[in-house]
Formats: sequence, structure tokens, C-alpha cells
Amino acid sequence: MISELVTEIKGVGDKAAEDLSLMHIHTVADLIYYFPYRYDVYEIRPLSELIHEDKVTIEGRVVNDPSLTFFGRKKSRLSFTVEVEGVAIKAVMFNRAFAKKQIKAENIITLTGKWDAHRLQITVSNYKVGPAEDQEKINPIYSVKGDFTNIKLKKIIQKAITDYGTGIDEILPERYLQSYKIPNRKDALFTMHFPKDRVALKHARRRFTYEEFLLFQLKMQLLRKLKRESTQGNAQHYDPILVQEFIGGFPFSLTSAQEKSLNQILADLKSPYRMNRLLQGDVGSGKTAVAAISLYASITAGKQGALMVPTEILAEQHYQSLTELFGDRAKIVLLTGSIKGKRRKEILAKVLNHEADIVVGTHALIQDEVIFNDLGFAIVDEQHRFGVEQRRILRDKGLNPDVLFMTATPIPRTLAITAFGDMDVSVIDEMPVGRKEIETLWAKENTFERILTFIEQRVAEGEQAYVISPLIEESDKLDIQNTVDLFHQLQEYFPKEVKVGLMHGRLPAAEKDGVMKQFAVNDIQVLVSTTVVEVGVNVPNATIMVIYDAERFGLSQLHQLRGRVGRGEKQSYCILISEPKGEVGKERMRIMTETTNGFELSEQDLKLRGPGDFFGKKQSGVPEFKVADMIHDYRALETARKDAQEIIEENLLENDAEYYPLRQYIEKQFSFTDKLD
Ligand code: ADP
Ligand code: MG
Repeated sequence: MISELVTEIKGVGDKAAEDLSLMHIHTVADLIYYFPYRYDVYEIRPLSELIHEDKVTIEGRVVNDPSLTFFGRKKSRLSFTVEVEGVAIKAVMFNRAFAKKQIKAENIITLTGKWDAHRLQITVSNYKVGPAEDQEKINPIYSVKGDFTNIKLKKIIQKAITDYGTGIDEILPERYLQSYKIPNRKDALFTMHFPKDRVALKHARRRFTYEEFLLFQLKMQLLRKLKRESTQGNAQHYDPILVQEFIGGFPFSLTSAQEKSLNQILADLKSPYRMNRLLQGDVGSGKTAVAAISLYASITAGKQGALMVPTEILAEQHYQSLTELFGDRAKIVLLTGSIKGKRRKEILAKVLNHEADIVVGTHALIQDEVIFNDLGFAIVDEQHRFGVEQRRILRDKGLNPDVLFMTATPIPRTLAITAFGDMDVSVIDEMPVGRKEIETLWAKENTFERILTFIEQRVAEGEQAYVISPLIEESDKLDIQNTVDLFHQLQEYFPKEVKVGLMHGRLPAAEKDGVMKQFAVNDIQVLVSTTVVEVGVNVPNATIMVIYDAERFGLSQLHQLRGRVGRGEKQSYCILISEPKGEVGKERMRIMTETTNGFELSEQDLKLRGPGDFFGKKQSGVPEFKVADMIHDYRALETARKDAQEIIEENLLENDAEYYPLRQYIEKQFSFTDKLD
């Protein structure tokens, strides 16, 4: 049985089992599915095709017995000449004195190592006396721990496959193997460990890539179905006429992308299922308007709504704009950590007895003391900034409230369908008309004076500027000091008429509030700030965003910061002050100056950073695949998603005997109970 412990394999004792457990290998199946993390391909190519400094393999005739020299205490150098294609190649090998006994003149030898095209020299890392053999062309490399070597692990895997290979059953229906021309599970598995050539390996990997994606997508879509079915009975019968009236009062008409997203959200509200939807839209695409309208719809159905945002500044701002927008259509209250004492008690009472229709707040919203009377709809803004747990608590506040997550961090499609595969997704992929594209410049630090002059000119025209200082950790005292220093520096530089403000996370809430208000009404013209203004802050008169030490920020964050300007009619500018050392940093700056499209940017960011880093490790929700690569295997992901959809929609796992093995496998692999929150 493939589920037996590894110690059942002949030759695997307790010590080996212990080492294997370090690699998370406990059963025979674990061992068999422990795939190499890379393959070294030794392919003998003509000398003329070898690339300088590449790792290459050559085969030739040893011309002279190697000569050995010692240096230092234990170091040695072995050198000899090999004739390849009639050319004399020098081979050097370090610290392998013992090889002198094995390598003799006239031997045919295969050498692998780093190629120096100028000196016609190879620095050998691997050698084999004898001609290159076919099966040695591809060498699987495993990640090994303990006393294990690559060779030892390979031997045990081979033994396991020989002894237990008959227990490897196909789980995919034949129709997929045929239409995608992928090998069966057993063959593919063998090839993963013992590839006979590159083509076979490619197909084996294609098979497991597809398998992994399909299983993952099935899991996500089953989860989604389960969630829906477990949350019936919360249909919100909103009043479409009132909602239309409300929209009619807006100073603009909705873009068609806004309308489409809104309709999807309204349909969710009306349906008996609980909404679990993600609303994506670039900064300034008008998500807040959509959020407001859908909150209103829920209110007309007699429910309460909540809007949870990541910072107090943002809560304050949303509270104000919603209050203005709703007029006397709804009673809105603000609840943040800095609202205390009697005022807090009053607000809590209003939430409890349904005097408040909408509560806007930070995560103060999810504390125990906050009890809603009848929460029907909760919106979480910038959802990736909240922990999964916080989101769950908010959801549990009401009896199955509909939940909408909003994000202005455009999530690449690949990530969206993996990380959020269990959610419905709406996208606002269109900007309101009349926006001017923000001009982005990349400047060196020594141009700072010129930048300040530019700011002064724009301010004289009535415009405003943000200057973001290089702060990464809001808790870092040193970084706060940087911001304060920069503030003093600018205060000194600008004439008195130009008022400079200071903003950072450590300021008391009331002070933050005051500064933001002054900036909003142009009492402050230049705001020196940390990244607390990153999300959602809306001051349309601000046209300049200067970001100091821009290389310290990721692309998404830079894009968010840039999104603070370009919100009005005037031409806006984003100036990145940066002298990145590395290539990745330079590439980031280049991308920023070349595109203002958030989705394009996020795709690039994903390529630069990799999926694990995209949301930050902790709560990425991005699964780790063994073989599949979300970025490169994007098409396979799409295919698997479509297939999974069909399987779920047509209930093939139950209705079609061909899917029985797949069903059995899934039932064994997935336990959903822990995910159903
Ligand atoms: P987001 O929340 O997606 O960053 P906002 O909802 O704050 O974007 O919208 C940015 C600005 O655009 C706001 O000033 C808002 O009033 C305005 N706006 C929103 N939708 C439209 C539209 N359809 N046409 C014109 N302006 C709009
Ligand atoms: Mg609903």
C-alpha cells in the first residue's frame, strides 16, 4: 500500500526515516510525490555554441595525466588538457586531489562545469570517466536534508516506485488525458524522477501542472458552492426606484463598468445567498460611489450597513463624503478607536437600536462591544490590509450579512482566480471620462531643489503637493524622524505664503484630522507625509506627488501613492526620487514611468516579486504548487478553471462514472470544515 510508512521500504531504517521526515516525507506516497526542484540538463553542444560563463558539458579525450598542486593548508588544484573537436581545452578542478588517480591520459571523459570562452577553459564541478550516456543528460536535483544526498534519495525513490508503482492509480478522466495529450499518472510520475529526455519531462510536468490546478480549482469552486448553499435565506428586497433616484442625484453618470459591478452587487443582495464578492478597481475608478449605492439599497431593505476601512483618516473621509451624499436618506455614524467616553456610548447605542443605518469605521467596528441591530451588508475597503480573522469577525456580526470586499490594488488575473477562487469578482476596469493621465518622472536626488522650485510654481497657480518621505514601518522612530526633518527642511525652504503640513501615523488622531482638513481646504499647500496617505485619501486639488527614496516601495504601493493625485481636471505629476542600486529597483522605476494602468502594473509586479510576496507572505492565500507555476502556466490555469466549472455545474463527480476516481481522491484530500467561515 502506497500509504504505508517509508520504513516499509527495504533499506530505509530509522535514521533515514528521521531525515526523510525533515523533508516532510512520511509515507511511501509522500516519497513518490517528492519531486525534484530542478533538473540539470547536460547536453553536449558544439564548442562554438557554448556561452561564456554558462554551465556546460563537454566530452573529450584526456591528453595528459593530470597535474596536482597544493596551496594553502587543504586546498588543491588539479589540471589537465582535454581534446574536444580537435581543440585543446584546459580543465581545472579544485580540492579533488583524489581524482588524479581516476583520470588518465587517453581516457574519454565527460566534464560539466563553468565555461570560460576566452581562455578555452572549464572549471569542473562534475566529471565522469567515459562517454556521456543518454540517461545522464538530465539530472534531477532534489532538495535534501539530514544525511541524505541526491543520489541516495534517488535510489530510495526508485525502489519505492518499483515496489509500489502498481498502486499509483489514474485520477483524471480519460477524456482530459486525450484532449490535452498528457501522459497518465504513473508514467508521468516515473518521468518526473527519471526523465529520459526533455520532451517527456515537459509532458510529465504539463500533466502535474494541470492536475494541481484542476484539484485546486475544484476545491475552491466546491467551497464556493458550499458557502452559498449554507447561507440561504438572506434575500434583501431593496427598493429599485429609491435606488435609481439616489443615483439620479449624483453630479455624474456612472461609467458602464461601475454600472455592471453595481448590478452584480445588487443581484447578490437580492439573492437568497450570502454575498462573498470582491470589487476590484484602480484608484479613482469610482468604487466608493458603487459602495455607497449598494449600501443605500440595503438600507431601503430595512437593514443596517457597515463600511470598514484600514485607517482613521480614511474612515473620517468616507464618513464625511457619505454624510454629504446621503443627506437625510440615512443616518450615518463614525466609529474609530479615538472616539471615546460618552460619545462612544451614544454611538454604540445608536448601532444597537438601529438609529444608525450606516456605521463607518476602522477595526474598532469589530470589537465585542459593537452590537448591530440588524446588519445586512458589510463592506470592507482595502481588504488585503485586514487579517482573515478580522474579516471573519465582521461577517459574524450579523446574521449572514452580505459581504463585499473592495480593493484598489489591482490583482493580476492569475492571482485573482487562485487566491480568490472562492469569491465572486467584479472589476471596474474603466476610468470616469475626462481624467488626464498622470505624468510620471524619475529623478535623481540632486534634482531636489529643482523639484521644489516646480512645486512652488504650481502652488502659485493654486495647486497642492504631497511629499512622501521614505518611511516603511509606521512604528520605526527613525523613519518618523526622517519625516519630521524633511518637514522642517521644506518649511525653511519655502516662502511664508506656502504652508507646509506634517502627517504621520504617530500624531494624535485629532491632530491628524486637523491637518487633513486643512489640506483638503487648501490651508496647507504642501503636505509632508508618510505612507498614511496611501489609501483612499481624496483631495482633487492636489496635483503633485513627490516620493522620496522611491526604490524602497513596491510597485503597488507606488501606484497607490500616485493615485492620490490626478483626481481632478488639472494635469498631475508624480515625481519619483530614487537611485536604486539593483536591477529590480531600476526596472520598477522604469515601469512606473511607462504605465499608469494598475492592472498592467500589477502583472509586472507579480513577475518581479513572485506570487508569495504579492500580498505579503502572511495572509496571501496563494497556494504553493509543487510543479505548477501560476505565472508561466497561466493558460493551463485557465483551462483547469473552465474544466472545474463544468465539473461542478454539471455535477459530473456524481453523475459520471468516469469521474469517480477523481471524486474519491478529492474526498480523501480535502476537509472543508476548517475553511467554512
Ligand atoms: P476609488 O474609491 O475607486 O478610488 P472614488 O470613488 O473615490 O474612487 O472616485 C474618485 C473620484 O471620482 C471621486 O471624486 C468621485 O466623486 C469621482 N467619480 C466617481 N465615479 C465617477 C463617474 N462615473 N464620473 C465622474 N466622476 C466620478
Ligand atoms: Mg444576499
